[in-house]
Amino acid sequence: MTVLAAWGLAFAPRRASALLQAAIRLRPRSMKIDHLEVINLRYEYPPERRFVYAGGTCTGRLSSLILVHTDTGQVGVGSAYSHPGLVALVVKHQLEPLLRGRDPREVEFLWDRMYAVTRWYGRKGAAMSALGGLDVAFWDLRGKALGKPVWALLGGERANCPAYASALLWKTDVKHLADEATQHLANGFRRMKMRLGRSEEYDLAAVRAVRIAIGKDNDLMADASMKYHVTLAQRIGKFLAEQNAFWFEEPFQPEDIDSFMALRGSINVPIAAGENEFGVQGFRELIRAGAVDIVQPDASRCGGISEVWKTATLAAEAGLKFAPHTWSDAVAVLANAHVVAAMPNGITVEVDQTGNPMIDDLLTEPLLIKDGMLQLNDRPGLGIELHHAVVDRLRMADPLAIPDGFYSDMVFGTEGLGPSAPYQEMK
Ligand SMILES: [Mg+2]
Repeated sequence: MTVLAAWGLAFAPRRASALLQAAIRLRPRSMKIDHLEVINLRYEYPPERRFVYAGGTCTGRLSSLILVHTDTGQVGVGSAYSHPGLVALVVKHQLEPLLRGRDPREVEFLWDRMYAVTRWYGRKGAAMSALGGLDVAFWDLRGKALGKPVWALLGGERANCPAYASALLWKTDVKHLADEATQHLANGFRRMKMRLGRSEEYDLAAVRAVRIAIGKDNDLMADASMKYHVTLAQRIGKFLAEQNAFWFEEPFQPEDIDSFMALRGSINVPIAAGENEFGVQGFRELIRAGAVDIVQPDASRCGGISEVWKTATLAAEAGLKFAPHTWSDAVAVLANAHVVAAMPNGITVEVDQTGNPMIDDLLTEPLLIKDGMLQLNDRPGLGIELHHAVVDRLRMADPLAIPDGFYSDMVFGTEGLGPSAPYQEMK
């Protein structure tokens, strides 16, 4: 036996052991769902900070954080905005028994299981929002397990995406809109969305005031909050085209696809809608009908990152853009932003700038906008950490005992049930 062979025999077991250890390290570590947690958040605006729009006077805000705890100690974070009691019911009483012990990285498999068991009462509404919050948390865990940010897992190459300020609600004097618009520019935004649907005189004056304040080099979007009919939308749409609006949002109720179809093609400004749509099947209907130019899915409402990504892909195949809606919390903003960062047809993501602590204070690192771009990072998953003191401050004890108020699109009690006066047209 040569010296070399003897050396090989002597060291073979050690080499085999090292190779085995390396293989074990390379094999994905087991990860199982231990339990789910729903934390419902509530914030009541001081009276002077309440805002008014076509839906009524908003007195407070609600959102639900959905945490997926695993046996590895890693926790996935998602969120949903819907009725908090229904979200808690769906997550804790139906989906948790189904999900406990499963690997949260099997995102697509688990999504199909969750959809199948909620289909009879789900498909659109609270069940889909709850399912979507879990889907976001699974993507967060998938990224954490692989050491990659979600935007990279989705095929993206940049750690940022365009974002817009969502605010400019009704004011008593449009001069105050101009002041506010200037402030959004100072905060780093280059695009902003304003709310119409008050009266024709106000809507025109408001758009003029904001356009003058931000100049021609920044983008202006107008949200009609479902308050128009087709003829009025054509008049306002023509004016918005003259004002070079970036898009004209939701002039009609989401169920009224015929009106969207009648409007599209008759005005020279892109039509955006989808914040009230659910699931890729809902968006398929909108896209097939040729109802919109820009789809607005929302991961925390329509079925998660998976569903936003599928909707964005469907939109791309139809030659359309997508610009996710977000509203109630910063987890939702980031979940949607990761898809925009990854997809070539993702044009911008919404950032609530109404003074909502669930946006401004919820994360240990606040959202950062630089020259119109929301900054993401290279950390695994969503790349975020919850600010636990803020979570505890906003935590709502009983999601079935919500104090009366208008929580922006959700009314409990009688307060804020819509605008006080009907829409006044000029002709
Ligand atoms: Mg809207």
